[in-house]
Amino acid sequence: MSDARPAFRFAPSPNGLLHLGHARSALLNDAMARATGGRLLLRIEDIDVTRCRPEFEAAIHEDLAWLGLDWERPVRRQSEHMDSYRAALARLDALGLVYPSFESRAEIRRAVEARPGWPVDPDGAPLFLFPRDAMSDAERTRRMAAGEPYALRLDMARAADRAGPLDWQEVSEAGDSVTHAADPRAWGDVVIARKEVPTSYHLAVVVDDARQGITHVVRGADLQAATSVHRLLQRLLDLPAPLYTHHTLLLDEEGRKLSKSIGSQSLRDLRAKGVTPDEVRQLAGVPSAAHDG
Ligand code: GLU
Repeated sequence: MSDARPAFRFAPSPNGLLHLGHARSALLNDAMARATGGRLLLRIEDIDVTRCRPEFEAAIHEDLAWLGLDWERPVRRQSEHMDSYRAALARLDALGLVYPSFESRAEIRRAVEARPGWPVDPDGAPLFLFPRDAMSDAERTRRMAAGEPYALRLDMARAADRAGPLDWQEVSEAGDSVTHAADPRAWGDVVIARKEVPTSYHLAVVVDDARQGITHVVRGADLQAATSVHRLLQRLLDLPAPLYTHHTLLLDEEGRKLSKSIGSQSLRDLRAKGVTPDEVRQLAGVPSAAHDG
């Protein structure tokens, strides 16, 4: 049964407590869903087995409910859908667009240090610098058979050639829409499946947005550049393109985006200090005018 209403999703990773930046994303998804008569879905992005924890997942549910949000059940948890990611990988592999990569982080770091000025991707990480044709298929097969761990990478040049020109519709918080050209080549040969799981953020997000029937992706501006990779994967996998809104980020006093790694105050801390959900809305820049209950 298909549902013609717009579908929005908030997709946190349970690797820490939610902070005000998450509240902003969740509240904007909720406000836009309400404004368009749409649905609000929650997705738990828990492919990182080493960092995700059940207590953080429970805290996500509790904190969002405390904020006054409600979302559809069942909630999609990525860790329960490895088969869908495997199927998507098999399609990319059948197109000849994926190859195993055995390099460790340390090896990559040393290689980059030896090449000053090596170009970086839109997130500032060095482009992958061990090209596919630097290793023979026979050597790869031998190393795989020997049980060496490997990630799978997308052969970006071939993938982008196959897909042709790509763009997406970017809808502002005010509702105006503009066409954005996608530039997936800027990312180089991205990891499409990590060493320990049959997916990566990029692959899981496009498979899930399609499986969940998401029509509007509303997320932070820090993920805008990654949309180029998402559009590429959608084209290669014949998945529909949602509309995208990349909202402005909240910054701390030093101008840094809020994050778990810099110890940004969690919603829990704020709540313990007596801050109310309405005050969190103010702090998150999504005041309750958009909220009818
Ligand atoms: N799980 C991602 C995060 O917590 C968000 C992914 C997305 O919205 O596409 O940053």
